[in-house]
Amino acid sequence: MRRHPSGRYLAYNETDQTTESMSSLVIKDLHATVDGQEILRGLTLEVEKGKVHAIMGPNGSGKSTLSKVIGGHPDYTVTSGEVLLDGENILEMEPDERARKGIFLAFQYPMEIPGVSNANFIRAALQARLPEGEELEATEYYAHLYEKMDMLEMPRAFTARSVNEGFSGGEKKRNEILQMAMLEPKYAILDETDSGLDIDALRIVSAGVNSLRGKDLGILLITHYQRLLNYIQPDVVHVLVHGRIVRTGGPELALQLEEEGYDFIREEIEQNANAAALGAGAL
Ligand code: ADP
Ligand code: MG
Repeated sequence: MRRHPSGRYLAYNETDQTTESMSSLVIKDLHATVDGQEILRGLTLEVEKGKVHAIMGPNGSGKSTLSKVIGGHPDYTVTSGEVLLDGENILEMEPDERARKGIFLAFQYPMEIPGVSNANFIRAALQARLPEGEELEATEYYAHLYEKMDMLEMPRAFTARSVNEGFSGGEKKRNEILQMAMLEPKYAILDETDSGLDIDALRIVSAGVNSLRGKDLGILLITHYQRLLNYIQPDVVHVLVHGRIVRTGGPELALQLEEEGYDFIREEIEQNANAAALGAGAL
């Protein structure tokens, strides 16, 4: 007989869902508002470690809202639903605690932090995760940092510059991936990491993300365009429309969206709604 993590023995035919979700980021029927307006309307999604899930969707469908809600941004209010990290509810946690638990967000519009050097910023983030009294070893830290910067083809001067201040759009996106490479999260949510990148930068950033792929990392890749998915091959593609996942498929779904736009999905949703209304009328 299998044993549940709680110590309880499972009945022979009982589904052991907890064990399953112990290595995934589970978003269950999530509803969230901003400024009193509901943006996420029952979003359900599971990102397993070792997998790359892409979310595509039209402008304003709630993609960035989802990433901010997972990160714990104070402007966004969760009205119902759950977000479980390896089985643990993170919605009650402060943003920094979520980060220490292994959530990483790469923002669509990365913030500038004047007066804080890039190297010190990442160092402070790493230091914050160490147990009390333990110090990050400086030589090792810089060796690690330079290795990741080389991978992302970032000149050394970027260590001393203030975080994102005066960075071009592409440099900011590269810097987000540098932070991700250094912080080694369990789950990374990358919000339109491809926007503002020229083709060379796109290739470098994608190679960086691909080099971080592995069995201990789950990635949620938010993008408006299929192009990124040529470089970072997703395992699963979801379509987000009006605050809900309306379709899930493989990489071919992204190609179909690229060709046909979002209209065919919108039409399907309308037809389903009409059919449901007719069905209800017949009762
Ligand atoms: P996407 O990333 O899919 O383009 P967003 O999540 O950014 O969409 O936005 C979804 C909707 O929520 C939009 O209508 C947007 O105007 C609104 N919204 C998002 N953030 C805020 C905010 N901080 N204040 C007011 N409205 C917001
Ligand atoms: Mg967005």
